[in-house]
Amino acid sequence: MRKPIIAGNWKMYKTFDEAIQFVEGVQDKVPSNDNVDAVICAPALYLPTLVQIASEFELAIGAQTMHYENEGAFTGEISPAQLASVAVDYVILGHSERREYYNETDEAINKKVAAALAHNIVPIICCGETLQEREAGTTEQKVAGQITAALAGFDAQQVEHMVLAYEPIWAIGTGKTATAEDANQVCGAIRATVEKLYDSATAQAVRIQYGGSVKPENIEELLAKEHIDGALVGGASLQAESYLKLLEAAANA
Ligand code: PGA
Repeated sequence: MRKPIIAGNWKMYKTFDEAIQFVEGVQDKVPSNDNVDAVICAPALYLPTLVQIASEFELAIGAQTMHYENEGAFTGEISPAQLASVAVDYVILGHSERREYYNETDEAINKKVAAALAHNIVPIICCGETLQEREAGTTEQKVAGQITAALAGFDAQQVEHMVLAYEPIWAIGTGKTATAEDANQVCGAIRATVEKLYDSATAQAVRIQYGGSVKPENIEELLAKEHIDGALVGGASLQAESYLKLLEAAANA
């Protein structure tokens, strides 16, 4: 059975003090990682401090993006080697906001996945369709293309440890969640893509999250579905109380 993984994506929210307060506040309440992997992807500036606090309990800390080069003249960027040097465990790659506002391409995402693996950072690879694409009936084609591009060049053993995240763009931050059936169908299509590229064992091992307006009220229904192994959560990960509810629901799923 695949262990659920709940990853908070704080985006560009929280001051330093608020971030520390959150992590200290959840310290005694994060469920055992025998039952759920709990991750917070925080603004880069806070990562070393949060890693240090979270090392006392079972909360993993992740970044929200990174460059694929280890070093170089890339003003403002953060490298995989730099993230590894402060013991970051996860990195979100290919989030639709990065694709849209910062021109992150499938090709760059593929290089970033390689760079993450080279530093033992688990990539959370995002894919998802726009409303127009959904209405045109091209959702599965879109996500299969994004996943195929992101995974190019990796072997099955590498892929089974990655996390994939299906995030319909129209459901992010809008309060509109895909129905659990729709989300499961697309997560199933992603799993089928992995099976086609590799084999059934790899497809059964890889974890696939759903993301887009996930909250305590809808998490149970989503996690009950066959192909949904967790959630990538923006808004509802900002308050300790709702984040902990999501973890509890996943630990008991
Ligand atoms: P949301 O964001 O939960 O606020 O919709 C999800 C995401 O962008 O990862």
